[in-house]
Amino acid sequence: MIPGPVKEMLARNSTFAQTYRAGPSLMQMATAMRGTGAGVVVLSCSDPRLNPYQILGLDQTLKATMVRNAGGRVFDAIRTLAVLQTIGAPGTIVVMHHTDCGMTHFHDATIKKALTEIAPEASQSIEASSFGEITGSIEESVREDLALLKASPLIKKSTLLLGMKYEIETGVLTVVEASGAEGSQPASL
Ligand SMILES: [Zn+2]
Repeated sequence: MIPGPVKEMLARNSTFAQTYRAGPSLMQMATAMRGTGAGVVVLSCSDPRLNPYQILGLDQTLKATMVRNAGGRVFDAIRTLAVLQTIGAPGTIVVMHHTDCGMTHFHDATIKKALTEIAPEASQSIEASSFGEITGSIEESVREDLALLKASPLIKKSTLLLGMKYEIETGVLTVVEASGAEGSQPASL
């Protein structure tokens, strides 16, 4: 049984597919990207109010690859970020956290309690896990996540790391921290 909203999505997809024109193949795209360093990966939150394509004005001339998870947390995205480096060799990773984020309201203790009710048999592993709570400021969580990227052996040291804060109340995006993976400040900032 397909719920109403998904039925509507499938109907809209039918319309979409009628005028869809496929882009380059993965191998064509990856080959074009590799070596240029032009690729940008944006890690942000799953919050449906936060639309990275709109916030960043992305279109056919200005593309970026998106990674999204609860809070836009690095520990949860490291596999994807590492894999993307091997495919398109992006020169920049942007970590975007936002105000009024679910992870600032639903802390690990609350999430663990809820998950333990769903899966009591997994209570030990739930208790031992981190779920990405943000207990301080957004600037702090962004810096924390850039530090994780810098410390990761899977992230190339030449990657430019940009930490950003998005104010969901105003639409304003600001750079919190910018550095190379080795801690150097980029000359352009
Ligand atoms: Zn969020």
